[in-house]
Amino acid sequence: MQILTLGNEALRRKAEKVEKIDNELLKTAQEMLTLMHGGKGVGLAGPQVGLLKRFFVVHLEGDIPRIFINPSIIETSQETVKFEEGCLSLPGEYAAVIRPKVITVQAWNERGKPFTIETDGLLARVILHEYDHLEGRLFIDYISETKRNRIVAKLEKRVRA
Ligand SMILES: [Zn+2]
Repeated sequence: MQILTLGNEALRRKAEKVEKIDNELLKTAQEMLTLMHGGKGVGLAGPQVGLLKRFFVVHLEGDIPRIFINPSIIETSQETVKFEEGCLSLPGEYAAVIRPKVITVQAWNERGKPFTIETDGLLARVILHEYDHLEGRLFIDYISETKRNRIVAKLEKRVRA
């Protein structure tokens, strides 16, 4: 398993619903957490490792590792907040992105139980970022074309080198 980087078409495709929450999925999620920790990331979504399934893992400092399976963002606040984001699929690149401040997300956990949380701060930010991966969206889609082109060019140069 490896983390795919910008240019890989899996990152631009819409992921499909997880049909079964089984050991295979949980084993994959565990491997993703390990990979994510290695890259010093705080979230990783299925499509980023080439699995076009609707789930992602999140692990913030001081918090437990979390898995979100078949998540829906059911509410977002009007109030927004600007925050600098990075992505393991766009290594070394960061940009300030405006997103809703407070969100409510519904998903299923590792035991196949549905849960709903309302959250803000970094957790809300990471959930929205990871959810985007399930839709084939990346954080660079929210920034100006000039900034986006600069990031894409830098990453392409690094891949060729
Ligand atoms: Zn990302």
